[in-house]
Amino acid sequence: MDYVEVAVDAPVGPGRTFSYSVPPRMSLEPGQLVWVPFGRRTLQGVVMQLASAPQVEVTRDVLDAVEPAPVVSAPHLALGKWLSRYYLCSLFSALGLMLPPGFEGRVRSRISGRDHAEREADSRIEQLRPQSREALGQLDQKRHLEEKQFLKLLGRSGERELHRLVEKGLVDRRVDLNHPKISPKYQCYLFILEPLAAATLDSLPPRQKELVEAIRSENGTYPAALANKTFGNGLVRAVFAKGLLGMDWVRQEAAPEAVRPQELNPQRLDLTGEQQDALDRIVQILEDPKKTARSFLLHGVTGSGKTEVYLRAIQTVVNRGGQAIFMVPEIALTPQTLERVNARFPGRVAVLHSGLTARQKFDRWWEIRDGAYDVVVGPRSSLFAPLEQLGIIVIDEEHEWTYKQVESQPFYHARSAALELSRLTGATAVMGSATPDVETYYHAARGHHRLLELPRRIHSPDGDPGQDMAQVEVCDMRQELKDGNRSIFSRPLAGYMAERLRSGQQTILFLNRRGSAPIVQCRDCGYVATCSRCNVSLTHHSADGRLWCHRCNRKTRFPRHCRSCGGVHIRQLGIGTQKVVDAVSERFPDAVVDRWDADTNRGGTGTESGAGEIMRRLTSGETQVLVGTQMVAKGLDVPNVTLVGVILADVGLFLPDFRAGERNFSLLCQVAGRAGRGASPGKVVIQTYRPDHYAITAAASQDYGLLYRQEMQFRRQMGNPPFNRLVHMVWQDADPAVCQRAALAMARQLRHQASAQGLTDVQIIGPAPGTPSRLRGRHRWHLLVRGRGLHRFLEGVNPGPGCIIDVDPVHVL
Ligand code: ADP
Ligand code: ZN
Repeated sequence: MDYVEVAVDAPVGPGRTFSYSVPPRMSLEPGQLVWVPFGRRTLQGVVMQLASAPQVEVTRDVLDAVEPAPVVSAPHLALGKWLSRYYLCSLFSALGLMLPPGFEGRVRSRISGRDHAEREADSRIEQLRPQSREALGQLDQKRHLEEKQFLKLLGRSGERELHRLVEKGLVDRRVDLNHPKISPKYQCYLFILEPLAAATLDSLPPRQKELVEAIRSENGTYPAALANKTFGNGLVRAVFAKGLLGMDWVRQEAAPEAVRPQELNPQRLDLTGEQQDALDRIVQILEDPKKTARSFLLHGVTGSGKTEVYLRAIQTVVNRGGQAIFMVPEIALTPQTLERVNARFPGRVAVLHSGLTARQKFDRWWEIRDGAYDVVVGPRSSLFAPLEQLGIIVIDEEHEWTYKQVESQPFYHARSAALELSRLTGATAVMGSATPDVETYYHAARGHHRLLELPRRIHSPDGDPGQDMAQVEVCDMRQELKDGNRSIFSRPLAGYMAERLRSGQQTILFLNRRGSAPIVQCRDCGYVATCSRCNVSLTHHSADGRLWCHRCNRKTRFPRHCRSCGGVHIRQLGIGTQKVVDAVSERFPDAVVDRWDADTNRGGTGTESGAGEIMRRLTSGETQVLVGTQMVAKGLDVPNVTLVGVILADVGLFLPDFRAGERNFSLLCQVAGRAGRGASPGKVVIQTYRPDHYAITAAASQDYGLLYRQEMQFRRQMGNPPFNRLVHMVWQDADPAVCQRAALAMARQLRHQASAQGLTDVQIIGPAPGTPSRLRGRHRWHLLVRGRGLHRFLEGVNPGPGCIIDVDPVHVL
């Protein structure tokens, strides 16, 4: 085998590789990362396969191997090929997902010299150009230099010269990592809300009393994870619900320590019949000696015990020497799930998240590859962790769109990629959700995935009747207005809030919009303040009194005069979370109100605090009313929250995206799931101007079937997924005419091609200006291709560099 096919780090078509010859002294294997000459540059590439003959007559040599052994495994090479062809991106960009962190993208290499005396003795030095000798001299003084600097010293055709020097062993090239960033971590500790009356303590059932005493004796350093493990989650909740416990989130310096095994009392829950059935069906496949790939959809309402089923299934895999990937939509929003995984597999869990430093990411990758962990937990990118014995992939909250990468190529969906990896490795895929993506559910209903249902919430082990789904009340805001109520709180919601404040229970208010007012308008001429770079209206933020663009983040002063007519009557329309906070304070001046949205999440300005602090105040009971965007909808599990108010359910309902209804439904269901997780029953109030909209009625009755049937009917009528596939093409340019022209030309070409091939089931929708039509100063035009067999149809279509192609888009705006 004297040749290799290499996926080169260059913007080339899907699946494309290039042939290189292997120099005699070198031996290469598939999956190895190499340096290759490409045009006049030197680029990285991944060896896809060895070949006895090249695709072209004249080949150049591979220059060097970056690592002496393969870094990409055989199944990952195959997955890379699939990703490249499916998402229409270059092979290298797909494989980039699977390379050790720090290798991809901006690799920095460091050049270091050899021992000075040794080199002087080397006769070959005489043959070098004077400039190269000069450069080597400089290198001796500095010990090492960045590759970029060294190339400058080498001057003309420096890259070729550098390779010559490396080959001759006169200098060393080492790949360097980027500078690490520091990120905080939190651990949750329990403490007793003192004073605790002796009579109260004595009235507790024995196990609960034991828990309280254990926590008390630790003086605030008792980890919640240990309590859950030793006493069971249900019991901890029960004590919590009695108002005896507080939680403290403590920032940690190092990565969260896994609970050590000897501290754990492996007390186990008995699965409910439904959980056991679901687990049995998964285990049956896991134990199938043929190891055929299988996928499951676990559909279960929040609190129905899905996580427990995942953990048991993973346990089965781990017991047999296998490994698991547990994907979550967003690490920051799932601390409780993380703790449970950590507690179940102490010391054997690698948590991947964006907060890790470059160094930590790099180390973690190699540790995983060396088999140091059984379970990898993380967001979508954790799918590509280098596990050799992958037995199961869990995709929790599979409907979440954070599983789709939308910021950069490849625009892959981690769920689709997981199903493909499952086919390639024989690993079992388990997707779970309370509100499955209707496309996933459709495929499950048609037998592509096995459907497992957990229709009921787990009842607490103490026999408390709580944990039933919260009671939902839909409130027609049109009627409120007719009755003269101009407040943002309907009368029922205001009444329930007052009750909660009196009785010491907590409330969450949800509104999917930040700021104070999303529209700032001139009363005289009707002019609406818009961003100068994006075609969207500006949002007023009362915190700093400025107008913010929620797309590009640009901030401007609040206008004193109308830009259009010079008038001074500027008014604010609509509401955002900040306005809700203000309204709560106005109505209930003594209430302790907190806000959690993208603005407070990072602990932005001095008065605001980060997620951990917000969480701590909520779980300790300090916060009486928490106002927030989708942040508050996910994963919060605070038993003392007994009321959830959706301030305006209609936000986002009428975006020109066919998934708007489905998204609204799932968000509303999630928010509703925050109420009544303790012993007291929960209440949810949904305020809306469209009480008859199917997404709202389905959410109000927590009826997934209703939503599903309605969606299927619309999707079938419109020919949208799952009945067809979509490919979204977007052009962006500072000049609107340029992207319009490109979009029109592509649309014409595709229509022509469809009719020439006699394809009646491929539709070209558009082109049209995007929503928004301008973003960060660039105009946007887009078109949608809808149909079946789109990959074949689009093969060879090259829309040019100004176009972004998104296969299976999650947004079509
Ligand atoms: P989901 O993932 O569906 O939201 P979880 O697995 O988190 O549900 O379960 C909800 C709660 O019920 C958790 O506190 C969990 O510890 C508890 N739980 C799960 N299964 C059981 C069981 N079989 N018996 C008692 N409690 C359980
Ligand atoms: Zn903007």
